Amino acid sequence: MKVFLASRNAKKLAEMERIMREHAPAIEVVGLDDVPAYDEPVEDQPTFEGNALLKARAGLAATGLPSLADDSGICVDALNGMPGVLSARWSGPPKSDERNNELLLAQLSDVPDERRGAHFTCAVAFCHPGGELVVHGRMDGRVLHGVRGTGGFGYDVLFEADDHPGRSTAELTREDKDAISHRGRALREIAPLVADALG
Ligand code: IMP
Repeated sequence: MKVFLASRNAKKLAEMERIMREHAPAIEVVGLDDVPAYDEPVEDQPTFEGNALLKARAGLAATGLPSLADDSGICVDALNGMPGVLSARWSGPPKSDERNNELLLAQLSDVPDERRGAHFTCAVAFCHPGGELVVHGRMDGRVLHGVRGTGGFGYDVLFEADDHPGRSTAELTREDKDAISHRGRALREIAPLVADALG
């Protein structure tokens, strides 16, 4: 059973492949490098679910393979839930994790600890010729006052998860992050559903 994972983000893709391999071992995961190039959709939907569906539907239409896609981001309480769906391009083009982190830190510079709550959220969509489904995952925590760690990607260097206080998610092992992350939770939920749908 082959499933196409529609993502250009190499680190996100590696996380998704790892979690799918562990929780649905009968499924062979192929990425963008394994299929002929196609026009990827612009992520212009106002919701994580909308963007995840857009990417998975485009993946199915272009490759003919059952397709999985995630859309994710960080929602900061003190910014009324932003950057949200704009997380990847929060500081404008070209996309840069480093500039996004600098901007977020600057925006929260005078926000005290007790108001630095935030969560990561992730919608994973699965589209196959027989139908489509979407699941969600969430990781709660807060935004740190400075960058910490070298692992993970994106805002991991600035995020302290409630489940692992005292460290940023960029300081967690891959396994520890997968166990508590928004993406890990969503993929663990969808993996058996994908296997059932294709089985
Ligand atoms: P997407 O490719 O539009 O889903 O972009 C998601 C963006 O949200 C990424 O570029 C990161 O900035 C951020 N993000 C999503 N998940 C994570 C995570 O697990 N750690 C850190 N940043 C993340």
